[in-house]
Amino acid sequence: MIRVHGLSKHFGELVVLKEINTVINKGEIISIIGPSGTGKSTFLRCLNLLETPTGGDIFIDDISLFDKHTNVPKIRQKMGMVFQSFNLYTHLSVLENLTIGPIKLLGKKKEEANKKAIELLRLVGLAEKVYSFPDELSGGQKQRVAIARCMAMEPEILLFDEPTSALDPTMVSEVLAVIRRLAREGITMVIVTHEMEFAFNISSRVFYMDEGLIYEEGTPQQIFENPKREKTRTFIHRIRSATKHITSKAYDLYAIQGEMELFCEKHMLSRKVSDDVALIIEEILEVQADYHDIELSLFYHEKSGNIEFTCESAGEPVNLLEEGTLEDDIGLKILKSRCKSHDYRYEDGKNIIELTVKV
Ligand code: ADP
Ligand code: MG
Repeated sequence: MIRVHGLSKHFGELVVLKEINTVINKGEIISIIGPSGTGKSTFLRCLNLLETPTGGDIFIDDISLFDKHTNVPKIRQKMGMVFQSFNLYTHLSVLENLTIGPIKLLGKKKEEANKKAIELLRLVGLAEKVYSFPDELSGGQKQRVAIARCMAMEPEILLFDEPTSALDPTMVSEVLAVIRRLAREGITMVIVTHEMEFAFNISSRVFYMDEGLIYEEGTPQQIFENPKREKTRTFIHRIRSATKHITSKAYDLYAIQGEMELFCEKHMLSRKVSDDVALIIEEILEVQADYHDIELSLFYHEKSGNIEFTCESAGEPVNLLEEGTLEDDIGLKILKSRCKSHDYRYEDGKNIIELTVKV
C-alpha cells in the first residue's frame, strides 16, 4: 500500500532522513519509536506531503507521489493525519469540525455528513459533545474529536504523530483505547509513539528510527524483547548516559562532577548516589596512568535502577583496580567501597574499568 524508496530529507545542512526504504502493507499497524530528533515526525510529514522530500520516492498503491501525472490531492485524501496538538478548528463546533471536510472536499450533502459525523462521534465516545466547541473539551476529548474528524474523510491510511504526548497522563488511555478500536477495523496505521506497552500490544511491526534511518525493524517481540542492534537495545532498556572526554592531566574535575551530578538530578537519583558518583569520578581519575585519552561514561538503567560507570583510557595495559599497582591504594579502597561490582579488561588499546554503583 505504501512503498518508500530511498527517501531522504535535508533541512539545509541538516540531514534528517538519510535513506529510508520500506513497504507498508494494507491493514498493517506500524509503530515508530526512537529518540526525539531522529526524524520520526519528518518521515510522517513526508508520507503525507506536508514536507517535500529531498530525494527518493513514495508510492501509494503503486502510484508515485512525485510523478507529474499523479493527482496528488486525490492520493493525499487517502491519508489522514492526527497531530500531537489536535489542530481542531476552534471557531467551529465539534459537528462542524467533522463535516466541513467531507462537505467541501468530498462533496457530501450536509445531512449525509452530519449522519456520518454523529456515527463517528459515537465510535469515539463523544456523542454528547456534538454541539460543543473545542475549548469546552478536555485534551483527551479534543484528541478523540481530531481522530473522528480524520475518519470522516474516509481515509485508507491513518498517520498518528505522538497522539498522546500533549495529554495529561489521566487522558492517555481514553485516546489509546480509541486507536485500538480503529485498529480492529483493519485500517492501515502508522503511529509514532512513546507509549511502549501500547506499541507492543497493537503493532504488527515496529520501526526503531535512529541515525536518519529505520535502524531496526521487526515484530513487537523482536524489537522489544530481543533487539539486535546496540542503539535499539539502549533505547528499549532506557539506558540514559552522560559522557565526558579528558585529554590531559589538567582536567577540570569540578566541571566533570557538576555535569554528572546534573545527570543524576535529572533522573531523580538520590543525593547519596550523586555524591558517590562524584567521589568515584574523583578517585578513578586519581588512579589513572595515562591521561591523553580518557572517556568517562555514566549509564542509568531505568528498568533495573542500576547505575553503571565506565572509564576507558588509552595506553599501555595496566590494571588500575589492582591494589599495589599505583601508590594510592586508599583511593582505590574508597572507590571499591562505593561499588556493587567492578571489573577490569584491556581491549583495543584501552584499559576499561566497569563499575556498578551501589544504590
Ligand atoms: P522527531 O519527530 O523524531 O523528534 P523531527 O522529525 O521532528 O524528529 O525532527 C528531526 C530533526 O529535524 C530535528 O533536528 C529538527 O530540529 C529538524 N527539523 C524538523 N523540521 C524542521 C524544519 N522545518 N526546518 C528545519 N529543521 C527541522
Ligand atoms: Mg516528532
